[in-house]
Amino acid sequence: MNKKNSHIVSSYPSDPSGHDKRSVWQRLVEPAATITEVCERRQASLVSALLFVLVLTMLTGVVYMGFFSSSPTVGIVLAGADIAIGFTYFLSRTRYYRFAPLLSLIVLALIPIMNVGLETDHSPENLLLLLIWNSLTILLSSAITSFRNTVVFVVVNILTFLLLPVFIPTVSFINMTFPLIFNGVNSLTILVFTQHRNRMEKDRLLEMSRVNQQLQVELSERKKVEEQLAHTALHDPLTDLPNRVLFTDRLRHVMERAKRKKNLLFAVFFLDLDRFKVVNDSMGHNIGDLLLIESAHRLKSCLRNQDTVARFGGDEFVILLEDMEYPTDYKIVADRILQSLRLPADLGGYKVFISVSIGIVLNDARYERGEDILRDADIAMYRAKNQGRNCYEIFDPSMLAGVMTHLELETDLRRALENQEFIVHYQPILNMEARRINGFEALVRWQHPTHGLTAPAEFIPTLEEMGLIVPMGYWVLDEACRQIRAWQVQYPSDPPLTVSVNLSTRQCAQADLVQRIAEILQKNKLDAGSLKLELTESLIVENAVSTSNMLSNLREMGIQVQIDDFGTGYSSLAYLNSLPIDTLKIDRTFISQLGATGSGLEIVRTILALAHGLEMNVIAEGVETDDQLSILLAMGCENVQGFLFAKPVSHQEAGVLLGKSFAALKD
Ligand code: C2E
Ligand code: MG
Ligand code: MG
Repeated sequence: MNKKNSHIVSSYPSDPSGHDKRSVWQRLVEPAATITEVCERRQASLVSALLFVLVLTMLTGVVYMGFFSSSPTVGIVLAGADIAIGFTYFLSRTRYYRFAPLLSLIVLALIPIMNVGLETDHSPENLLLLLIWNSLTILLSSAITSFRNTVVFVVVNILTFLLLPVFIPTVSFINMTFPLIFNGVNSLTILVFTQHRNRMEKDRLLEMSRVNQQLQVELSERKKVEEQLAHTALHDPLTDLPNRVLFTDRLRHVMERAKRKKNLLFAVFFLDLDRFKVVNDSMGHNIGDLLLIESAHRLKSCLRNQDTVARFGGDEFVILLEDMEYPTDYKIVADRILQSLRLPADLGGYKVFISVSIGIVLNDARYERGEDILRDADIAMYRAKNQGRNCYEIFDPSMLAGVMTHLELETDLRRALENQEFIVHYQPILNMEARRINGFEALVRWQHPTHGLTAPAEFIPTLEEMGLIVPMGYWVLDEACRQIRAWQVQYPSDPPLTVSVNLSTRQCAQADLVQRIAEILQKNKLDAGSLKLELTESLIVENAVSTSNMLSNLREMGIQVQIDDFGTGYSSLAYLNSLPIDTLKIDRTFISQLGATGSGLEIVRTILALAHGLEMNVIAEGVETDDQLSILLAMGCENVQGFLFAKPVSHQEAGVLLGKSFAALKD
C-alpha cells in the first residue's frame, strides 16, 4: 500500500483491531478521501449511489434480454453499456466524480446508435427515428437540467414515454422500452442530482450571503476604525476640538479664498487661559483637564458653526472666524468669549475662576503664510496678558519690538539667576505703640549690569511666567532668613525681629514648599515665629482648597501668614474666617486716599473693624505722610510701613536704621 492510499484508508472509521466499521452501502458510495469539503463529499456519494443503481438496472436489462429477446445483439449492447456505466461508477468514487454523470449520459445516448448498427428486427428508418428520439430526449433533458427547471424536466420525460409509441408504432417492445427505462433512470439520476445541486447551491448562496454579511460588518468596522484614525489625526483627544494640523489647513484654505475674493473678512484669535498652570499645579491634572474641556465647550458655544476653534496643546486655543459680515464682528465675538469664560466653573466639586487673554489678527494681504498669522496672534495674546489678562489685543506690527524686548528680558533673567545678580532690600515695619521696628519686609531687586537697580514689577511677572520665580523665591527666603537671624543676634529684642517674605502663586503651588521652608529655617537657625509669609488675596481665593492645607501646615510650624495688598482683590470675605491668617496688610491705595479726599477712610475703618472681629493684626502699607499716620493712629492702627519712615534699603542701610533710635527714624 502506498503512502497516499494509507492516508485514504486511515481516514475511514475503524475499530482498534483495524476492521472497517463502515456499512456495505457506505463502502459503495464513500467518495475519495481527497475530497475534503463536506458539500462535495455529499455530492460525490450521491452520484456514486445513483450510478450504482443505474448499473444494477442495466444488469437486469442484460439478464432480461438474455432470456427474452429474439436477438441477442441488444443484450450485448446493453452489457457493453453496463460495463461502461460501471466504469463511470468507479469514476464517481474518485475526485473526478463530476465527470461521471456526463460520461454515463454519453454511454446512454450511444445505446440506440449501437442498436441501429446491430439490430436487424426493424427497418433502418424506424431505428433511425428511435435514435433521434432517444438522443433528442437526452439532449432535451440535459438542456432542461441546465435550466434547472425540474418540473418541466419530469414532464418532458413522461411525455417522451407516452408519445414514443405514437410516433414509432412499429418499434418492438424491447427496443422501445429499454432505452426509455435507461433514459428514465438516467433522467432520475439527473433530476436528483440537479435537485441536490440546487440545494447545495442554495446552501452555498446562503453561506455566501452569510460570509458577505460578515464581510459587510467587517468592512463597516474597518471603515469606522479608519474614520476614527482620521479623526484622531486631526483632533485633540481631550477636548475633541480640531488640532493644529486641521486648523492650519482651514486657515490656508481661507487665505486662498481671501486672495480670490478681495472683500472676504476673517480673523484669527490666539487664546491662552489665565493662570491655568496654577490651577493645574495646585488642584491636580484632573481638574486641569476638566477646565480645558469646559473652556472648549464654552468657546464653541460662542461661535457660529462655520467658525473653527482648535486646541494647540496646553491651555492654548485658536479660533478662525470665517466670512465676517462686518469688519468689527470680531469684537462682538471676543467680548462674548471673555464674558463666557469669566463665569466660575464647577469642576469636580471645586469652584474655579478662570479668564482668558486673546490676541487677534485680522486678515491682511501682507500675510503669505498661516504660521505668520499665528505667530502675530500669539504676540498680541502676550500683549493682552501683559495688559492685565482677561482682555483682548489686536496685533500691531509695533508689538514685534515688544516681543524682542521680552525675549531679551528672558535671556537676561536666566543669566541673572546664574550670576546671582539679585539682591534683597529691606523695608522696616514699625509698631507705633511700642515705638520700635518690629521687623522688615524683604523685597527683591535686580542689580542689572547695564540698566542698574531694577524694581520687581519689571521682572517678577516674567520670572513667574518662566517658572524661575520658584528658585529665585527660595533664594530670597534663604537670604532674608540669614539676614534677619544675623540682626537678631546683633540687635536682640523681645519679641525678636521678624522678616516678611512675599510668596508668588507658582511658589505656593510647589508641593514641597512647607518642607523647603522648614529646611531654610533650620539651616539659618531662625525660629519659625520670626518668619511671616505674604500672600495676595487673589492667590488665596483662586486656590482656596490647596492653599488651605498649606496654610494650616505653616500655622502648625508657627509661621505667620499675612494677606498682602488687602482690599484690592476679591470681594468674597468668606475665606478670611476659614483660613489660618494672622495679619491683613491694607493696600497703599487706601492709605494714600486717607488724607486728601477721605474716600479711603471708611474702607480702612471697615478693614480695621473686620480684622478686630476676626482677631487679626493689621499693617498699613505705603504710609507716606504724617496726616495719614495720625489718621491711622486715631483709628487704632499701630503697625505701619511706608516711605514716611524708610524706603526699602540695602541690608547695610537697614542695619544702620536698626542702630538708630526710633525717634530718629523719620529724619
Ligand atoms: P508688596 O509686597 O506689596 O511690597 C510693597 C511695595 O510697596 C514695595 O514695592 C515697596 O517699595 C512699596 N512701598 C512701600 N512703602 C511705600 C510707600 O510709602 N509709597 C509707595 N509708593 N510705595 C511703597 P516693590 O519693592 O517695588 O515691590 C513691588 C512688589 O513686588 C511687592 O509688593 C511684591 O508683590 C513683589 N515682590 C517684591 N519682592 C518680591 C519677592 O521676593 N518675591 C515675590 N514673589 N514678590 C516680590
Ligand atoms: Mg508684600
Ligand atoms: Mg503690598
